[in-house]
Amino acid sequence: MRHIAIIGSGPAGYYSAEAAQKKFGENVSVDIIDRLPVPFGLIRSGVAPDHQSIKAVSRRYEKTNLGDTVRFVGNVTVGEDISIAELQELYDAVVLATGAPMDRVLEIPGSDLPEVLGSAAFVGWYNGHPDFRDLDPPLDAKSVAIIGNGNVALDVARILAKTEQELDGSDIVAHALDRLRQSKVEKITFLGRRGPHQIAMTPKELGELGELQRARPLVDAGDFPDIGDDAMLEPGMRKSVTHLRNFQIAAADAQSKPIEIIFDFFAMPVEVQGEGRVERLIVEKTTLDKDLRSIGTGERYALDCQLVISCIGYRTPAIEGVPYEHGRGRFANSDGRILPGLYCVGWAKRGPSGTIGTNKPDGFAIADMIDEDIGENSSKPGRPGLDAMLAGRGVDAVTFRDWQKIDKAEIARAREGSPREKFTDIDEMIAAKN
Ligand code: NAP
Repeated sequence: MRHIAIIGSGPAGYYSAEAAQKKFGENVSVDIIDRLPVPFGLIRSGVAPDHQSIKAVSRRYEKTNLGDTVRFVGNVTVGEDISIAELQELYDAVVLATGAPMDRVLEIPGSDLPEVLGSAAFVGWYNGHPDFRDLDPPLDAKSVAIIGNGNVALDVARILAKTEQELDGSDIVAHALDRLRQSKVEKITFLGRRGPHQIAMTPKELGELGELQRARPLVDAGDFPDIGDDAMLEPGMRKSVTHLRNFQIAAADAQSKPIEIIFDFFAMPVEVQGEGRVERLIVEKTTLDKDLRSIGTGERYALDCQLVISCIGYRTPAIEGVPYEHGRGRFANSDGRILPGLYCVGWAKRGPSGTIGTNKPDGFAIADMIDEDIGENSSKPGRPGLDAMLAGRGVDAVTFRDWQKIDKAEIARAREGSPREKFTDIDEMIAAKN
């Protein structure tokens, strides 16, 4: 028997549990520990609420959890309720699958104004993460600047631009839907510090922007390289760039689609300005060097806006005693091994890149590594040791069966057409299981 603790119940955590289950059969006991009483991490709190087909992957994780070898232990905060050192005493292997829930910091003057939000906060707000339920973003803004040209920037713009009808069938939380109903947003500007050939947006997601009921994407033809250069792009990127090129004709929809979504390329934000609140963003035009990095040209202009949402990537929170790479915002590791017995997977290992599926091979690689590093017969206490420690500390751990009760209660209180109405408060979640 091997005892494995996985910290974090998002995709990276569940794929690692599944891999351990497949590799070790009955000879493993896996505890997936999460600080929230509800599982699935990024699937619940990161994936856009109108992308329900992506969220359906949680059924696979549920299956993993329904076997005897894998257990969900929610409402337990590593670093507060129990330390990594204690977990290492209890388990043969500790796997950090903590994701990257913190925003990469936008380091420009004025970014501390209250209407400058990070995507972790904004996405967490509309997805009902307890940490961000009280965010109250200023949607009286008419002009919103979104910094970054990645898929998160696209999610944020789409949610801001969609009509209530277009959000039917999503699990956007009621507090966000209420605020979006009253939104005054008329103009959304993506600021990309590089050009159309350097975007990090994927074709399917970019294509959705061209299909919105009341918003039209706009690009400046002058920002594109020669069309012949598209042939050198890899196929996915070529499709994305083709979407961008097609957006050039969207200007014709001005009457029927009043919200503008403008792609401002070669545009690097350098300062947020305003008297006590955001009034404008100062942007510097850029050009690319031979390595395709952006460099400022010195030419500056002001973009009037009242809300700035920075979608420039995420960081993994450091944990005391665990080696950390500050520059890349992830744990210091060699292919997932921090040291024998301590591992990391997913964004905590790679940094915030790749799709949900990218975590699958990560999980399987870690199971192989654990097999190499750890003998078959454990002398560690494992599960009973954890339970005794948590009980002694008065921690009300949440089981998968408890989560199923919370799940049921969320489904039961859903508004018409929505799959669930999430609880956004930890006490409410706990009450629903009792
Ligand atoms: P991302 O894909 O890394 O994009 C970050 C963007 O921010 C890039 O355009 C980057 O530009 C820009 N940026 C970084 N630092 C900047 C700075 N200081 N100033 C201005 N711009 C800056 O990150 P993400 O959008 O957060 O997405 C994270 C991961 O989740 C990605 O793998 C993404 O594909 C995935 N995701 C997928 C979906 C989906 O499949 N539906 C949805 C959401 C997220 P440079 O290129 O110049 O660095």
